Amino acid sequence: MKTGSNDSPRILIVEDEASLAELLAYNLSAEGYGVDVAVRGDEAELKLAESTPDLVILDWMLPAISGIEICRRLRARPETKTLPVIMLTARSEENERVRGLSVGADDYIVKPFSVPELLARVRALLRRVSPERIANRLSFGEIELDRDNRRVRRSGRDIHLGPTEFRILEYLLQKPGRIFTRAQLLDSVWGLSAEIDERTVDVHIGRLRKALSRSAETNPIRTVRGAGYGFDDRFEK
Ligand code: CA
Repeated sequence: MKTGSNDSPRILIVEDEASLAELLAYNLSAEGYGVDVAVRGDEAELKLAESTPDLVILDWMLPAISGIEICRRLRARPETKTLPVIMLTARSEENERVRGLSVGADDYIVKPFSVPELLARVRALLRRVSPERIANRLSFGEIELDRDNRRVRRSGRDIHLGPTEFRILEYLLQKPGRIFTRAQLLDSVWGLSAEIDERTVDVHIGRLRKALSRSAETNPIRTVRGAGYGFDDRFEK
């Protein structure tokens, strides 16, 4: 499976747990990355020999060749010596993380982790190695969001948002015009493991709307009854 346009950063996910691989692939594609998945160590080796992605998410325990071994081999080859690698480890292996970092992983995440947490690490790592490829500012119509200093403005006026409203706005701004269901917003903003009622989404959307629009201003967020929320594509004009 491969997704993404030609110029978007390409990420190889190496994970033998099918549901986790699928969840990661879905969310990374939604963020605009090109995604490829390998479910075995030897399959990952083949894909890596064929072409070098921009980042690898590498599970520790894999059939055929372990994540540790793959990482060691990547670091030994000149062309993949500096390839960004995020290792995924199960909690029981956490005390082995030093070993993971000693073979050259750039970062590691302990399972179970939240999707927003992983996406933030991916973005941070990619931005460190190729800042020009990761958008620091998102904007639509009169609204601008700056990821680095976590600032939001509408027509130059500062908008103060809570952390959850900020993440919702960041998520919606990546795909203006697209409608997201409450379940998608829950997964992407709060993370799958969060035990939160879908009505909580409505509450935060309400706060975001209120913060973004003063009395005479257009409300930029569209509600589609029974479907979800998105940036109104008429808002830009
Ligand atoms: Ca595994």
